[in-house]
Amino acid sequence: MRACRHCRKIETDKKVNQCAGCQSHDLSEDFSGIVVVIDYEKSTIAQKMGITANGKYAVKVR
Ligand SMILES: [Zn+2]
Repeated sequence: MRACRHCRKIETDKKVNQCAGCQSHDLSEDFSGIVVVIDYEKSTIAQKMGITANGKYAVKVR
């Protein structure tokens, strides 16, 4: 799995080289922590992280 360096969205498909969230190609294998956002409008974690879509996100991306 890789995480986007810009929006921290996690990409699980190895064939995909573009972030589904922000269209960035800057994906990193070096990340830690996974947050699964099911309902971002009600999630306080999503609000703190600035997440505006449901999905898997890395807590830290290097
Ligand atoms: Zn992204």
